[in-house]
Amino acid sequence: MKQIRRVAIANRGEVAVRIIRACEELGIETVLLHSDADIQTRAYRLATKTICIGPATTALSYLNIEANINGALAAGADAVHPGFGFLSENADFAEQCEKAGLIFIGPSSDAIRKLGDKVSFKNLAKKANLPLIPGYEGENQSVDVLLTEVEKIGLPVIVKAAAGGGGRGMKLIRVMADAKDLIESAQREAKSAFGSSTVFLEKYLEQAKHIEFQIFADSTGHVVHLFDRECSVQRRHQKIIEEATSPSLTDDLRRRMGEVACTIAALGKYKSAGTVEFLLQDGQFYLLEVNTRLQVEHPVTEEVLGIDLVKMQILTAQGSFVFDSKDVRIPRGHSIECRVYAENPYLGGVPSTGKLGLVQWPEGPRRRYEYGFESGDTITSHYDPMIAKVIVWDENRPRAIQKMIRTLKDSTVFGVDTNIPYLIEILNHPEFQSGKMTTRFIETYFAEALKAPAEDAQIKKWAQQIYKNLKSGGATVASSVNESISPWSSFWRGV
Ligand code: ADP
Repeated sequence: MKQIRRVAIANRGEVAVRIIRACEELGIETVLLHSDADIQTRAYRLATKTICIGPATTALSYLNIEANINGALAAGADAVHPGFGFLSENADFAEQCEKAGLIFIGPSSDAIRKLGDKVSFKNLAKKANLPLIPGYEGENQSVDVLLTEVEKIGLPVIVKAAAGGGGRGMKLIRVMADAKDLIESAQREAKSAFGSSTVFLEKYLEQAKHIEFQIFADSTGHVVHLFDRECSVQRRHQKIIEEATSPSLTDDLRRRMGEVACTIAALGKYKSAGTVEFLLQDGQFYLLEVNTRLQVEHPVTEEVLGIDLVKMQILTAQGSFVFDSKDVRIPRGHSIECRVYAENPYLGGVPSTGKLGLVQWPEGPRRRYEYGFESGDTITSHYDPMIAKVIVWDENRPRAIQKMIRTLKDSTVFGVDTNIPYLIEILNHPEFQSGKMTTRFIETYFAEALKAPAEDAQIKKWAQQIYKNLKSGGATVASSVNESISPWSSFWRGV
């Protein structure tokens, strides 16, 4: 066992803050390895030390292995936490950390290679007879072979980049006439986005739910699952709302899926926190992939189980976390997380950048906020536009939904547009409330941008009029507004 005294954080935003908080509680110092665009952020203000490792461009900073390792060593760190995204699932980064004498807070580079790589994970699962989505992940990448395989699998088929992630690099083949073009463009895009043109094929499941299991292997390698999350509410294959536990699982399904999740983790000699993802359709479940890192939606698991996954990761990395065989883990109540993005929901989600004005997250029992930016900070176009995660817990799912709606309604974010109105619409939707939603929920019910409330358009007109008048030195604010329809009464009616 080697006591960790200083953790370098190879990440940014809310996850960097999350890691800082866990370290503080364990009496560990932190070093934020940041780009020069991230000085005005909460993590920068909270970290014990900060080291600039490069410019805003991710390839030169957050994705630069050498810069991160040199920064960690220069700061005298003895461990590195990669957070999620960026280098968190990069086996070479984990290996370089190990070689440089830095403890990588996560699984070994070998486990990342075995389980994090989508193709090698499938091979491992196949050998162990675990349930996979029918597909093709062979080495022969000629378009003719791929076309024959598409026919064998049967349409619809999804083409995925072997090195892809984050919901990117997928093409859906619905008719054979489009197959050749879609395969070729998937290969081209995979090459330019992920550096490898290798693709694989899967049967596309039309009515699937996304269910995942949190797994955790302690310092001795003992694997347990920490129950499930449902993440079927996705836009363009990216999760927006997540919950624990899933409203869709029977006890029997939960037990069987949990067993498969633990089996695959043990086969990969896993250590630390990871997620085993499944698709569930018509009562059948299929392994989708393993994420060899902490997950964005980890707080909902923490809320229903009363645990701290980041502290568990750190303690496991220093060899001092062992599950007590007498521990009984039973999830209690229901937890929901909403990802709040800086984007305009009335314009189909176009990103919204700028300086944050007043930001207020309403306090209340079992409401939790994970955020990396506060009033006065700037949301730039360099990185992911997520401003915060809002997490609630309540006794059961209907109450948790109501609490989330109230919490979002009472949240204030000035300075940029947010998707909060969009989240509220989703939470109010009968299909979401029934718990029956599939991964196609958003494309089915929210394909169009939200309709802007009439009041907004009216206020915008008045604001433009006022601005024009002020600029031209003309009428005052009061006289520029038609007194018979006061904007203020109309505005408040709309709230
Ligand atoms: P990534 O690693 O980019 O997140 P995943 O393979 O985990 O990609 O898939 C992300 C999402 O895409 C899934 O949650 C699901 O909604 C959809 N998806 C992926 N594969 C399939 C499939 N074979 N059938 C139906 N939907 C799929």
